[in-house]
Parts: sequence; C-alpha cells; structure tokens
Amino acid sequence: TAAIIAYFGYRQLLSPEAIVTAGVIYAYNDYIGRIITPLFMLFRELGNIEHAIVKTNRFFTIIDSEKEDSSFQKTHKYNGKIEFKNLWFGYSERYVLKGIDLTIEPGTMCGIVGHTGSGKSTLMNLLMRFYDLKKNDIGQILVDNFNILEYSKRTYRQHIGIILQEPVLFRGTIASNIRYGNDKLSDQEVTDIIEKIGGSDLLKKFSDGINQRIVRGGENLSLGERQLISFGRVLAANPSILIMDEATANIDTGTEMMIQKALNVVSKDRTVIVIAHRLSTIKNADKIVVLASGEKIEEGNHESLLKNNKTYASMYRAQSN
Ligand code: ATP
Ligand code: MG
Repeated sequence: TAAIIAYFGYRQLLSPEAIVTAGVIYAYNDYIGRIITPLFMLFRELGNIEHAIVKTNRFFTIIDSEKEDSSFQKTHKYNGKIEFKNLWFGYSERYVLKGIDLTIEPGTMCGIVGHTGSGKSTLMNLLMRFYDLKKNDIGQILVDNFNILEYSKRTYRQHIGIILQEPVLFRGTIASNIRYGNDKLSDQEVTDIIEKIGGSDLLKKFSDGINQRIVRGGENLSLGERQLISFGRVLAANPSILIMDEATANIDTGTEMMIQKALNVVSKDRTVIVIAHRLSTIKNADKIVVLASGEKIEEGNHESLLKNNKTYASMYRAQSN
C-alpha cells in the first residue's frame, strides 16, 4: 500500500493529468481492506474447522467403542483379601509393572510408597479396573480368591471405595454429599458419621450444620474439609476395600493430624490400601510396600524396613529431617 501510494501519488504530483488520481488511490486502499478482511476471517475459521474435525473424531471414537457390560448383581460383602499374582502390565508396549507379587490380608492396612512414576497409581488403576489386563499382560488380580475380571465392573465395584487425591464434591449440602445417593441414611446418622471422623468443628462452623450448602466442586470448603467429607462417604457406603491416594499438595500439620485421625476411624474392619506421600501416614500400617520402576523392591512393616536400611529407610530419613 505504501509503495503504491508513494509511486502513483508522486506521479500525480508531477503531472496532474495522470490516469490514477488521488481519489482512485483512496478507493483502491479502501477496497483492498474490504477484500482482505473477509479472507482473513475465512482463514481464521479454517483453524476452527480443524479443531472441530479433531473433536468430532474423538466423539465418534467414544460412540463407536464397545459398550461396557453394565449389568449389576448384588453380591455378598467381600472379606477383603487382595492378591496380585506375578503381574506384568503396560499401557502400551513398555511394561510399567514388572512382576508384582503381593498379598494383602483382610482387614489390614497396606501402604504403598515409591518415587514418582514407579507405578503406584497404575497398581490401583488395575485394582479399581480403570484399566483391564490386555493380551500382552501377564498375571492376575484376585479378590477373595476370585479373579476380578469375572464380574462386570459395576458388580465388582460395589464393595470397593476410593478416596482420590482431590475429592470431588457435588453441589448440594454436606449431608447430600455424604449420603451420595444412599437416601436411607437419616440426618442423625449423617451427623454421627461426621462426629465419628472428627468433623464436629466442621458442623459448629456452619450455622446450618449438615445442611450447609456446598457449591459445585466444594470450593467453599478447604481441602482438608473436603477430604473429611470423602472420609464420611466411606463410612456411609461401608465398602470392604478402601483405596486412598493421598493428597500430594502441601497441607498444614493440623489438617494432617485430622486426616490421620479420620483414616484411623475408617480403616477399622476394612482392607485399606494407602498410596502415601508422607510416610507418617502409613507408619502404623501392617505392611508397607516399596515400588521402584514397576518392581516391588521392599516389603515389611515400618520397623523391619528401617532395620533393612535400604530405600524405605533412606526415604524416611529424608522426610523426617
Ligand atoms: P506419582 O507418585 O507421581 O503419582 P505413580 O507411582 O503413581 O507416580 P504411575 O502413575 O503409576 O506412577 O505411572 C507409572 C508409569 O506409567 C509412568 O512412567 C507413566 O508415564 C506411565 N503411565 C501412567 N499412566 C499412564 C497412562 N494413562 N497411559 C500411558 N502411560 C501411563
Ligand atoms: Mg500416582
């Protein structure tokens, strides 16, 4: 544009009879803008179309995928014995778990520790059946001596509970979040549950008590309070097996003690597996398993592992300093 104005403008100045006049240059400039703007918009939309194609593909992947067996039959409560037998598993070609052998007795607490990427969450993903063993994988997982692939996922999971690193709360009240669809629980029972896990302060803090409103995601509660409510859910649902993925986020000592206390309450008469980041959480566990790069490298209780003076002992020393 600058070149054209300079060239023709200069010629116009030199000879007033030049074919291109100032008016034509103005019109040219104006039209150029009108042509380019829609082209520009067109190319921007092309980007959006690309996005839409990718999204549609994903959408159809879900629609076309095989339907999950969602049948449900009530089964007796599990005793809670868990066995991992020579388990080799990988998300793709690479094995992430390498020959895990582990037995967890009913009603005991097992802590799992290991550096990041060692396969702790993977082990739990398999136990929860978020992933199933494929044909390249080896070994099996047994609960009460039955293979967990025997039942549909819905049936299998009815006696298993999980506490996630970031608890998910729904819009509603404290009570509705603890009932979690189990409407048989009376208000009194909900209050008892909260008091049992050491949440009396929570009720005192709010004038509406258990009917205190919770916004979506529970953002009006602290992380510790949200954790307490998910412990409450465990008592309400009363599963035989409980898996807890401990929050990695830094929490203060008060919250840590509160969670420790709640964990002690909910772990009664249940098989509990805790993926621990703070070793203090599992100091009293019946069994502690140390994973490294998908292999079980140590197993025992706190004292015996300290005596072994290997990975666990050095992790413990690093944390208690
Ligand atoms: P952290 O302490 O950070 O939670 P972790 O011990 O739970 O670690 P895992 O999540 O079990 O570690 O991951 C073990 C390995 O598996 C990692 O190398 C990771 O890259 C890989 N992995 C985990 N989830 C997937 C997935 N969904 N798809 C592919 N690979 C995965
Ligand atoms: Mg993990």
